[in-house]
Amino acid sequence: MSRRKLIYEGKAKILYEGPEKGTFIQYFKDDATAFNNKKKAVIGGKGVLNNRISEFLFTQLNQIGIKTHFIKRLNMREQLIKSVEIIPIEVVVRNIAAGTLSNRLGISEGTDLQRPILEFYYKSDELGDPLVNDDHIINLNWATRDELQFISEQTLRINDFLIGIFRGIGIKLVDFKLEFGKIWIGDDQEIVLADEISPDTCRLWNIKDERKLDKDRFRRDLGGLVEAYQEVARRLGIMPEGTNIKEIKAGITKIKSLKNK
Ligand code: UDP
Repeated sequence: MSRRKLIYEGKAKILYEGPEKGTFIQYFKDDATAFNNKKKAVIGGKGVLNNRISEFLFTQLNQIGIKTHFIKRLNMREQLIKSVEIIPIEVVVRNIAAGTLSNRLGISEGTDLQRPILEFYYKSDELGDPLVNDDHIINLNWATRDELQFISEQTLRINDFLIGIFRGIGIKLVDFKLEFGKIWIGDDQEIVLADEISPDTCRLWNIKDERKLDKDRFRRDLGGLVEAYQEVARRLGIMPEGTNIKEIKAGITKIKSLKNK
């Protein structure tokens, strides 16, 4: 097969040119990073699980009328997606206090929030993704007022829907991050959900005992990340074909050897 043209390499994914105009291929890597790239590891099997979980969630969202970049999963690590122009904003929704919200405002982790809190971060590795508000976004032309309104409404709808999906499998959706992109259709633009939704981008707590089933297992050195992601996939009823315990164990060995360095 001829080498595909690389469009962009991110921390956890690679984008390649797709087979047709207006498409990209999104490749899920096993790389894990946290704290603005200061902590890194390769966790064998993570990319396969995220590809599958994100496919499942985007498909469900497509079915309730949320427009997304997702077209189809191609194989264990790749998805065919629509090429979009990413809006440089990370939209975070929080249902329960955790992570930077708890640290910044001194609210203990696990505190239920009365209503979901929406936050926006400017996507910039150099600046460490700073927190911004709607005035910054509109003023600096990252999105118009109408676009931001649409993004916020979509995000809250997605939150309601995902809370239900996860509750149904015994998991609390604590918080998560979304990204949106623009597609041109003739002279018109459409805003669609892009990127991924996976345990890398969500906080997921087991309802029974608040066990973390997400990337905090890596951020906080709790171990068992692949097992946790696999548990999320299993409860969603989607285990990736071809993954076997040996492969996953190989991933765990890699984490250990990296940690000991
Ligand atoms: N998040 C993400 N990518 C980022 C920052 C945050 O996917 O670059 C997700 C994170 O996994 C969590 C939520 O957004 O589910 C809120 O993250 P928080 O602000 O607490 O920061 P973090 O703990 O990720 O540094």
